[in-house]
Amino acid sequence: MMRVAVLGSTGSIGVSTLDVLARHPDRFSIAVLAARSNDAGLIEQCLRHQPAIAVLESPASAERLAAALRAAGSATEVRCGAAALAECASSPDVDAVMAAIVGAAGLPSTLAAARAGKRVLLANKESLVVAGPLLVEAARAGAAQLVPIDSEHNAIFQCMPPGADTGRAARGVNRVLLTASGGPFLRMPVERMASVTPDEACAHPRWRMGRKISVDSATLMNKGLELIEACLLFGMEPRQVEVVVHPQSIVHSMVEYVDGSILAQLGNPDMRTPIAHALGWPERIGSGVQSLDIVAAARLDFEAPDTGRFPALKLARDAAEAGGTAPAVLNAANEIAVGAFLGGTLGFLGIPRLIETVLGRHVIRAADSLETVLEADRWARELAEATLA
Ligand code: NAD
Ligand code: MG
Repeated sequence: MMRVAVLGSTGSIGVSTLDVLARHPDRFSIAVLAARSNDAGLIEQCLRHQPAIAVLESPASAERLAAALRAAGSATEVRCGAAALAECASSPDVDAVMAAIVGAAGLPSTLAAARAGKRVLLANKESLVVAGPLLVEAARAGAAQLVPIDSEHNAIFQCMPPGADTGRAARGVNRVLLTASGGPFLRMPVERMASVTPDEACAHPRWRMGRKISVDSATLMNKGLELIEACLLFGMEPRQVEVVVHPQSIVHSMVEYVDGSILAQLGNPDMRTPIAHALGWPERIGSGVQSLDIVAAARLDFEAPDTGRFPALKLARDAAEAGGTAPAVLNAANEIAVGAFLGGTLGFLGIPRLIETVLGRHVIRAADSLETVLEADRWARELAEATLA
């Protein structure tokens, strides 16, 4: 029985994870559920799945959750705060951790799970972007298995030679083709982009996701973060990662070998496929995903991304090439910019502009310690906030 902690259980990935877990009660038990403040959602999940522990970020929500669970006669213990989260992620009573918290807030618990040698199901791409080399090193030192959940990276993982090592270039691999849906504004003229609303940005044509990653998909920053993620997970140079717009989202990414072979992973766009793959790996387990009707899909289109209309992609590629603390700064400025856009205080085109301003003032340092990257993250958030004010 694999005991699973689902961090970010009330989010889009968290809910899909619980759906897959519930299909295999003989294989998995749910040890921990954790969320930020969605106590109502977490009460329902706790009553249904009966985890040993539930964690909420805020004490007030944790208090409400504990009272509701007591009243319902539930044995689930309620804890709160980031330290409790990291403790649960590294607990001896947990075998696998679904890292599905959004943003750099997911870093401490992801890192704790890696250090403790858990199977880390990595959805929280921001933790890799902020502290990639440290996270990969922690996983190596702790003998943790990092299995990517991001659909593209999970596809690449599936297409890599068996036994490929996290963070090290696999023999015979030439490059990676990272596919992108192009988001909701793929064909939109830049003049119209200036006035798009948060709801328009979150109306993704292929995927139902949380609001932060939806905005990232609309700016193509999501693909930029994923480019960095791919370099770290698979030991690639940024120039070995080609971004390809593929509006149908059926090919989830490809790996090209030195002999010219290209392997691709295909399927319906449903996150339960990568989640089931990562949970069951190296075995295959059912996910509940509908079988792909390839005749109905009929065609697969590919095109180059337009970095003129989507400058975020270029900013991310430059940060990947610069290395050091640049990706952490890119990510932090992006989190502030996206928050401001969702809050109605920054226009859509202001997102890449703010990130460029912050990166332009950053003196890049080697990302050789957690303190250094967290300091860069803090610096970038403060500068981004001050620039917005
Ligand atoms: P979401 O906004 O739907 O859910 C986020 C979850 O994290 C919620 O449960 C929330 O309560 C929790 N959370 C947020 N801040 C927290 C904190 N400080 N402490 C504890 N819990 C906290 O987001 P999502 O779409 O599920 O995405 C989660 C992560 O997975 C992101 O890093 C995203 O980039 C990545 N991802 C998502 C998808 C997708 O299809 N949704 C695909 C690939 C990667
Ligand atoms: Mg993705």
